[in-house]
This record gives sequence, structure tokens and C-alpha cells, in this order.
Amino acid sequence: MASPPPFSVSTDSFASTHCIVPLTISKIFGPSVKLGKIEHTHLRKLTPLRRDQGFALKASKRSMGSPELTQQLNNNKLETLSRTEDGQDIFNDLKDRFLSFKNKYTENNDQFEKLAKAQAPKFMVIACGDSRVCPSTILGFQPGEAFMIRNVANLVPPFENGPTETNAALEFAVNTLLVENILVIGHSCCGGIRALMSMKDDENASSFIKSWVVVGKNARIKAEATASNLSFDEKCTHCEKESINISLSNLLTYPWIEEKVAKEKLSVHGGYYNFIDCSFEKWTLDYRGTKVEERGIIATKNKVFWS
Ligand SMILES: [Zn+2]
Repeated sequence: MASPPPFSVSTDSFASTHCIVPLTISKIFGPSVKLGKIEHTHLRKLTPLRRDQGFALKASKRSMGSPELTQQLNNNKLETLSRTEDGQDIFNDLKDRFLSFKNKYTENNDQFEKLAKAQAPKFMVIACGDSRVCPSTILGFQPGEAFMIRNVANLVPPFENGPTETNAALEFAVNTLLVENILVIGHSCCGGIRALMSMKDDENASSFIKSWVVVGKNARIKAEATASNLSFDEKCTHCEKESINISLSNLLTYPWIEEKVAKEKLSVHGGYYNFIDCSFEKWTLDYRGTKVEERGIIATKNKVFWS
């Protein structure tokens, strides 16, 4: 997967000096140059759009504007989209994988029947939408173990920002499912964080991506201050980690979360998955050591490093 997918759509012209290509929707989840080494998905690469050149030429000569031919070309294009490099239907792969999962999952009939009635996960996980960082893959969450939401750059907006799908999911997980742990997982080479770091202080968000990642603005300010002598890429790494702590701090702005954390019914954790060296850091917010009035500054404890 070293080359970009066939249908990359440029959102705007903001490009970092360290990016080989401008940031695009296809690039927003990180540079593709290292994908060969760290790819976690089992999907085979989609075939780049192949047009039947002879067919296209005949079409242009014969019947410009023919609705039937246009439809045929469109069908041909759509069919190509759902094929792997070796021409197989991509959904056949998914079918095989689903049936394999089903066989394994339904072997444990008790668990299957229990989960068919209700869920009682211990974890609420907030992770990035990046295809390389699926928490169920890297941490092995099984059905029923983690209520999960994934967004661009794994951000948690503060309570005062109002409703989003992220805090809707948090509300359900904390108040209805009564999860005992919230885990915010960041990761290396995060395209959402790169977009955040590329924004100017006074820049008006002109895309959905910018409008969203600006939630982590304080992380960018901190990364700029603490890593001012470092390269843009290194600043981005700082920001990736700093944004997790900003999100942990933002979690405490929700009264129903802070109340449970204060009563030790709920723990809030940060995690950082580095897919360059395949390591994972985990730490826990130290509520008693954190001054809530100092927004964005949290105390942490129980830091561990898995490699
Ligand atoms: Zn990301």
C-alpha cells in the first residue's frame, strides 16, 4: 500500500513542509510510506481503477452522450471498486472472515447467548479512525468487552462544546452501561494531529476535519511550546501524546464523569500505540493529584510501557 488509493480527494491546499504530498482525505490518517511494514488490516489492496482503454475509445467515437454507454462505463467503474488486486470480489473475503468469526464465536454458546441479551463492557474506548489502529486488533478486545467510539485523532471535546457523537457515546457508556474504565488511545503518525499542527492560530476552520481537530488546540499550543526546537514531525509526536492528556482533562469537565471518578467508580486512562516500533504506553489519570481548575494539566500514575 505504498501508493495512494485511486480516489483521493483533496480538501484544500494546506500542506506541511514535511509532507511529500499535500494533506488529502486519503492522507489524513497518516503517511502511507510505512504501511507495508505495519499494515494490520487483512484486506487486500483495492485495484487501482482500470479502464478498458479500447472500450473507452470506442465509446468516445461512437456515442458521446449515449445514456446506455455511460451507464455501462459507470457500472464497469463501480465493479472495479469492489475488487482486490487479483480481481476477486472484496466482499467474498469479508464473507469468509465473517463465517470464520461466526464459527469461533458461536463455539462458546453460553457467551454468545449472554451477549445476545445484553452487554456489560468494562471499558469505554475512544480511538482514532485510522485503519491501522483498531483497538480490538491491537488489544484483543472481544465482543462485549469494550464500548467504543472512533473519531479523527481520538479527541474528547470539553463538556461546554455541546453534543457530539463522542460525548453521546460517553454518556451511554458511563451512565447506562456503567463502564469502569475509559481509555483514550492515541497513536503514532496521526494524520488528524498533523492537520491540527498545520493550523495557524487565527485560522478559521474551513473543513470538517479542521473544525473537529481544533478541539485539540491546547495540545498544539503545548507541543509548540515544549518542542519548539524540534522538527515538525517531532512536534506532531509531542502533540499526539499531549492531546491524549487534554482529552483526559476534558473528560473531567463532564459532571457525571467527574463524580464517578471522584468516588472511584470510574478510572480514566490514556494509551499511546506506536506502530513504528509496535509498542504501547498506558497511564492513568491521578484524580487526587490533578487540580481541576488548571485545565489541561493532569497528574498521572501507573505508567507502563509494553514493547
Ligand atoms: Zn489518528
